[in-house]
Amino acid sequence: SGVLYLCATPIGNLEDITLRALKVLREVDLVAAEDTRRTRKLFSHYGIHTALTSYHEHNRQAKGGYIIEQLNGGRNVALVSDAGTPGISDPGEELVKAALENGIEVTPLPGPSALLAALTVSGLPLDRFVFEGFLPTKHKERSKRLSELAKEPRTIVVYESPHRLLKTLGELIDAFGRRQACAARELTKMHEEVQRGTLDRLQEHFKRQSLRGEFVLVIEGCSVKDEQEQLIYRNSALSPEEFVH
Ligand code: SAM
Repeated sequence: SGVLYLCATPIGNLEDITLRALKVLREVDLVAAEDTRRTRKLFSHYGIHTALTSYHEHNRQAKGGYIIEQLNGGRNVALVSDAGTPGISDPGEELVKAALENGIEVTPLPGPSALLAALTVSGLPLDRFVFEGFLPTKHKERSKRLSELAKEPRTIVVYESPHRLLKTLGELIDAFGRRQACAARELTKMHEEVQRGTLDRLQEHFKRQSLRGEFVLVIEGCSVKDEQEQLIYRNSALSPEEFVH
C-alpha cells in the first residue's frame, strides 16, 4: 500500500516550508487538503500540480474512506491543513488512526506549527508545557477547564480567535490571578506581534487595538508560591488586594 504523509505547511510566510515537503507534495499521487483553495495558492507559488481533494471537518467520514482506498490501492497521499501541522487543532487524527488500522505507513513531514513558534518566543519555561488547543466554548465546560488549569504547574498554551481574545484574557485573570504570559499574533506574517507581560498588561494592551489576526496565548504555570498564596487568601479574611507579600 501507499504511504500517508502528514505534511506541515506555512502558518503565514510561504517560505516556511521544508525542501522535503515540497518534494513530497510534487511526487505524491494525491494531496488531501483542508481547504483546497488555500492549498492551491501554496501550489501555484511553488509550481506544484499534484491532484487535490478536500478533507475537512464536515466530510472527513466519507472522504476518509476514499483516501484509505487510495492508499490501499498503492497510491501515496499527503495530508495538509490550512496552516501548520495537520492533526494539531486541525483534521488528521482520525485519518491517521484509520491508516494505522489498515496497516498503512504514516510518515511525518515536520515543519511549522503555531504551537511551537509561540511557545519558543514566549520567554516562559519550556522544559515542560501543556497544549490546550482551543478552550471549550460552552460556558460551563470552559469555567471547569479554567479552574482545573489554575493548578497546572506547566507552561500552558492555548489557541484563540481574535473576537474572543479579550474575553479570554479577562477569564484567565479571574482564574489565574497575576501571571506572566505571552500573546503571539500573526506569527511569520506582515503584522507579527509578540506581547509579553502579566495577563492584565496584555489585556490593557489589546483593549486599545482593533483585534484582528490569529493568536496563541502562552501562560506561565502555577508556581508553588501561587498555590501557597491562594491557600493563604482563602484562609484569611484579607482580600487579595490587601494581602501583603
Ligand atoms: N494546525 C495548526 C498548527 O499547527 O499551528 C493550527 C490550526 S488551528 C485551526 C488555528 C489556530 O492556530 C489559530 O486560531 C491560532 O490560534 C493559531 N495560529 C495559526 N497560525 C497562526 C499565526 N500565524 N500566528 C499566531 N497564531 C496562529
